Amino acid sequence: MQCDKCGAEAVMHAAYSGLHLCADHFTRSVEKRVRRRIREDGLVPDDATPEDPVTWVIGLSGGKDSVVLTRILHDTFAKDPRIELVALSIHEGIEGYRDRSLEACEELTAELGVRHETVSYAEEFGVRMDEVAEADPENMAPCAYCGVFRRDVLSRYAERFDADLMLTGHNLDDEAETALMNFLEGDIEQVAKHFDASLGPLEERTEQDHHVPRAKPLRDVPEKEVALYAQLEDLPAHITECPHAEDAFRGEIQRLMLDLEEDHPGTRHSIMAGYEELAALAATAYGEDRQEYGECERCGAPTGRDICRKCALVEALEGSA
Ligand SMILES: [Zn+2]
Ligand SMILES: [Zn+2]
Repeated sequence: MQCDKCGAEAVMHAAYSGLHLCADHFTRSVEKRVRRRIREDGLVPDDATPEDPVTWVIGLSGGKDSVVLTRILHDTFAKDPRIELVALSIHEGIEGYRDRSLEACEELTAELGVRHETVSYAEEFGVRMDEVAEADPENMAPCAYCGVFRRDVLSRYAERFDADLMLTGHNLDDEAETALMNFLEGDIEQVAKHFDASLGPLEERTEQDHHVPRAKPLRDVPEKEVALYAQLEDLPAHITECPHAEDAFRGEIQRLMLDLEEDHPGTRHSIMAGYEELAALAATAYGEDRQEYGECERCGAPTGRDICRKCALVEALEGSA
């Protein structure tokens, strides 16, 4: 097969667009989509100047998504004095898994010259995910604990670095799965929150819930294309799955989505197009009587309860030890 743009040998065929692309045109098309998303979501504020730059914290796990995101953000903004990039990695305390992916993070950031910080659950909460999975006082999947801890660390460190934006490597498949899960769970308030937390253009979000705003510039790029980009650019990505991963519902949705996409190419894109429109309407509708956020009595994090979810989980884990 030949590249539709230049006739060189194609490395990929996107069923949803019908395009065959060579390595060069493919990597450029990924970069173009990321830059367009950054523009459309209004992530670079008009008033950012070299004298008064904005700080962007990138959640860097060492997996292909965040590695590709870091590389493209670096290539786009390294010479732009209005933007300062910081990569933040989390050590969850998972034997034999996280050490390898942190090596990938260090290799990448050293090569690019991006500031890199690492924090651990052990230092932050006094727990390691291996112990959490073993104790499991709330009878949940390990990912449920880990997600609460990760959000807490990311938002606290984003504040510590005086970040204006927190960027994560969620791709099109991740976002379309989340959209479908919200539909199937019938949770429209969750759809509204999704819009305000990370999906909507920055200035259209109705309520920022006191956290540093988040954004997902890779969310127009299918997972397979992110993987191909990492491979073609020879990026140091760690591909092993987390040994604790067991989100059964998301796994089912993943398989369903792959089948749908196979039979009806473009399904992920059309789900997201409709979902974004609906999410904007839901955010406006729910924005007016959104639950008031107070501060956690223990740690001061923004929460709708007396004690935030993270502090409740740490307490449950201490009780089970
Ligand atoms: Zn080409
Ligand atoms: Zn708390």
